[in-house]
Amino acid sequence: MGKKTGVSASFGSRYGTMARKRYTAIMKTLKEKHECPSCGHPTVRRESFGIWACRKCGYTFAGGAYTPTTKVGAAATRAVGLKEAKKPAETPGKPGPVPAAEAEE
Ligand SMILES: [Zn+2]
Repeated sequence: MGKKTGVSASFGSRYGTMARKRYTAIMKTLKEKHECPSCGHPTVRRESFGIWACRKCGYTFAGGAYTPTTKVGAAATRAVGLKEAKKPAETPGKPGPVPAAEAEE
């Protein structure tokens, strides 16, 4: 019987191999440093399920339960971004300032 290592070591042989493998993969993702969408520093840590906070600038945002961003969340952000980018064009006679996000691209 080999010595078990890693975050799931305390589980012993309980819960089955697949459950432990999934838990290990999730915990590995949780412990990784994530980049802050606000200041860019890799200081984002999970506060709670779906809540992520940056230790550097205090920026708190909602994300996935185990990762800061999810595929669904990215799609939603993209959709909101497109919607907001269209706004100035839809109101003629009101040339609003160019959004910062658009200027960077
Ligand atoms: Zn930050």
